Amino acid sequence: MADTIRFKIRRQDRPDSTPYWQEFAMPYRAGHNVVSALMAIRENPITAQGERVVPPAWESNCMEEQCGSCSMRINGRARQACSALVDSLSQPIVLEPLAKFPVIRDLVVDRSVMFDNLRRVKAWIDIDGSWDVHTGAPRISPQEWDLNYALSRCMTCGCCMDACPMFAPDRDFLGPAPLAQVLLMNNHPTGKFSRADRLHAIMGDGGLTDCGNSQNCIQVCPKHVPLTTAIGMLGRQTTAQILRDIFGA
Ligand code: SF4
Repeated sequence: MADTIRFKIRRQDRPDSTPYWQEFAMPYRAGHNVVSALMAIRENPITAQGERVVPPAWESNCMEEQCGSCSMRINGRARQACSALVDSLSQPIVLEPLAKFPVIRDLVVDRSVMFDNLRRVKAWIDIDGSWDVHTGAPRISPQEWDLNYALSRCMTCGCCMDACPMFAPDRDFLGPAPLAQVLLMNNHPTGKFSRADRLHAIMGDGGLTDCGNSQNCIQVCPKHVPLTTAIGMLGRQTTAQILRDIFGA
């Protein structure tokens, strides 16, 4: 076991400034994840070359892979820093901000495009909880629960967007996560009433047909959201919608 933990961190002071790299080496301690190691660097921000620097900036919150805030590229792969255990990573551990979102500072990015895209596809239920319990509420099969629960685990972390070759700042593609939320909202008994609006929102430019089927998204999703299943099911729903639009059914 190495007696040091080595990091190579991509730094960027401002959104418009040029990125640069810094290396850090800290004493080995068992059980570190990337966030706790960054905290240790912050306590003693001295580079491997002995220079005291401004501590790296990053985002984190829940520390249990529930909030999605600590997304970053770790050794080239988009993932959550809280669940990236140092002992499982090759060194130097290379930390970079997600590449598909604007950098605010160091490892902190602006993921607001994801929330904009959720608005584009109307990923909400207009009225929820209005059914009388036990009287008239629609039944949902266990199979539907399973799928909907899996879709609802999305924490808007952005890893799937970072891994998707079709999602980029200069492209219009909605990205996998907002598409999966369309299916979740369409499956909801009340959400079904706005199904046509959501499907129309994903049938135009930047919508479903911009997916290149690389399947990178499911490889990186930390919550195992069935993204490609959702995209396939939405393909069938949009086809049915086109027929409804033509024949007015
Ligand atoms: Fe993150 Fe998975 Fe949601 Fe994509 S689908 S934003 S990878 S949790």
